[in-house]
Amino acid sequence: MPVELLGKSAEELREFAASLGERPFRAAQLYHALYAERRFDFAAMTNIPVALRERLASAEGARITPPRVVRRFPSLDGSIRYLFSIGGPAGEAGAKPAQIEAVFMPREGRQTICISTQAGCAVDCHFCLTAQLGLIRNLTPGEIVGQVLVALEENRENLAPRTNVVLMGQGEPLLNYEATMAAVRILLDPKGVALAPRHVTLSTSGIVPGIERLAQEKIRPSLAISLNASSDEQRNALMPINRKYPLEVLLDACRRFPLRPREYFTFEYVLLGGVNDMPEDARRVVRLIANLRAKVNLIPWNPGNLPYRAPSRESIDEFHRILMDKGVPAFVRYSRGQDVFAACGQLALMEAPSQIVSLQ
Ligand code: SF4
Repeated sequence: MPVELLGKSAEELREFAASLGERPFRAAQLYHALYAERRFDFAAMTNIPVALRERLASAEGARITPPRVVRRFPSLDGSIRYLFSIGGPAGEAGAKPAQIEAVFMPREGRQTICISTQAGCAVDCHFCLTAQLGLIRNLTPGEIVGQVLVALEENRENLAPRTNVVLMGQGEPLLNYEATMAAVRILLDPKGVALAPRHVTLSTSGIVPGIERLAQEKIRPSLAISLNASSDEQRNALMPINRKYPLEVLLDACRRFPLRPREYFTFEYVLLGGVNDMPEDARRVVRLIANLRAKVNLIPWNPGNLPYRAPSRESIDEFHRILMDKGVPAFVRYSRGQDVFAACGQLALMEAPSQIVSLQ
């Protein structure tokens, strides 16, 4: 049975090379070809001798299985949403087939790639379509890092110099901790994908043990917290995870988190019209994060299939103004790709009718 190489660390590739009787520098060449050059085909790994490439490509050798693009959804704003298929007979042994999504968002001088860490999600945030899928399964390190590599390859001709990655697609990254961090280490490794730690952001619904664990990591991404409410009562209603890790416990974990110099927490706040977008909500948010080095991203709700409405222009501006007046850096972020189903999980839901039926 060929060994799947995508997602393997430098150390794991060294062990694999040793099992073939190859020297460690061959593993370093493979690592470079996989992650720095994004070669998914052994024949294209021109830094490796032909005999070894042929051996790797043979039935008992190895394989590289990047997520397969099922559909591309280009948006008028230049973003492209990808529906990927993973697992199944061509994927890692025993990995259940699933569909996940990622979004490629080009901007002046950079691209941002939003990726998934789980197929579906168990966290059950009420404003999120992915929640309706439930948890299908955790992704492997190769399936996580593979989304970045495929999105970069797909857009190879038009890449800007800088790449940002946000772990904000389907799934709660801190509930798939090991695989997510294995992928992040490859993304941040100067010999791997070579992204800067400040350009990779992990977004969590507030899994406190995961935040505490992340605080111990020598190499880690930046941290974003999906806040979305200004009181426990409101957050319990929107995000049931708050009953397990209430605001004070969550914010206490943030206060103990060792930020790097000039590093900020990002608090994501989806503005739901008439639910959490009042001026008193803004004032409570200011008080909640008063002792933290933090910025707030305000994301006006993007009307879709869920029973929420978009906030008014006036309430967005007022909320933003209150935060800024109190010295909290705040930015209004309109979610990109709105014309191609921008809320996380929307594509997977559309492409998985049997899963939708079970929810109705
Ligand atoms: S918002 Fe994130 S954590 Fe919450 S249900 Fe959706 S995918 Fe899961």
